[in-house]
Amino acid sequence: MQFRDLKKQYNQYREEIDQEMQRVIDTSIFIGGSIIQHLEEELAAYVGVKHCISCANGTDAMQLSLMNWNIGKGDAVFVPDFTFFSTAEVVALCGATPVMVDIEEDTFNMSPVKLQAEIEKVVKEGQLNPKAIIPVDLFGQPADFANIRRIADYFGLYVLEDGAQGFGGRIGNGRACSFGDIATTSFFPAKPLGCYGDGGAIFTNDDDADTIIRSYKIHGKGYDKYDNVRVGMNSRLDTIQAAVLQVKFNHFNEELQSVNQVAERYYKNLKNIVRCPIIRDEMYSSWAQYTILLEDEQQRIAVQKALQDKEIPSMIYYAKGMHQQEALQEYLMIEHQYPITEDVCKRCLSLPMHPFLEKEEVDIISGVICDTVVK
Ligand SMILES: *Cc1c(COP(=O)(O)O)cnc(C)c1O
Repeated sequence: MQFRDLKKQYNQYREEIDQEMQRVIDTSIFIGGSIIQHLEEELAAYVGVKHCISCANGTDAMQLSLMNWNIGKGDAVFVPDFTFFSTAEVVALCGATPVMVDIEEDTFNMSPVKLQAEIEKVVKEGQLNPKAIIPVDLFGQPADFANIRRIADYFGLYVLEDGAQGFGGRIGNGRACSFGDIATTSFFPAKPLGCYGDGGAIFTNDDDADTIIRSYKIHGKGYDKYDNVRVGMNSRLDTIQAAVLQVKFNHFNEELQSVNQVAERYYKNLKNIVRCPIIRDEMYSSWAQYTILLEDEQQRIAVQKALQDKEIPSMIYYAKGMHQQEALQEYLMIEHQYPITEDVCKRCLSLPMHPFLEKEEVDIISGVICDTVVK
């Protein structure tokens, strides 16, 4: 069994993908071109924003967004403590200070209450300028943007939505990657919409941000890439990757429906046995991960071993909070505490999750968990 079965997906779309990749090779336009432009237009329309800017990966997408806002030394950027390292890394890479915010146990997402408390602490200390918040749509469920937006407006902060795991999610009729002033996503193969290598995109309604980010991503280009008006990066999506994404995007809505059916079946099987993920009212998840909470670390070890014995993969997303990462120690302020993240890191376990997971497979996985936990 696969954790995320990319081979099964390829076999479903094989003819289309082979044909579209071959088409790129035949034209020999490997960077840029109409395939990239068409994909950007389709993704922008799907998300419901004016601009989609493709780039090399989800990390660059966030870095380019922070560069657009001139975020740097002396600035504080608020990030959830429980996330993939990128979210905090890009802040430090820009020279600013990541300030970690604890999460809510039921959604694994940034807690608005803790966010407000952390902003107030930074304001009171008076050392850093609060500039932006990066809420993450963790495991596919959008962050609590209604409350986060209210706080951002009150303190005059930008919101950068890290939708690397969230693409395809919704709050009401609003789609993930439309909730930030700028939003980003990743097309890493295992994400909800993945390509066959690295890829990413930036979404915004802001015309100026669109212009500036398009410059930054190609060496700070002016009228062309040999006229350089700012110091930028080299961060483009390859045309072959765009061709793969276009095929997968055409099937994306069906995949979202399937993966939500898988989640329902996990929930039905496991809801009385372990803490299953909770999707809030009005929210729809793209299920980048299906992450359960066990009783304690011992029980997690037992469940992981029982699954392994049946050749069922499982992953710990994540074993450490950002405040526990060695690389970020210099940014920590002593009185900050992250009890929920620390607890969740000891008890979380992500199960195989993808649109092609069969009912029978979900039942086998659930059965192993039941047998181990109910003893
Ligand atoms: C994967 C991921 C990223 C980074 O995306 P890459 O394309 O791998 O650079 C950023 N944030 C989160 C939450 C992610 O899961």
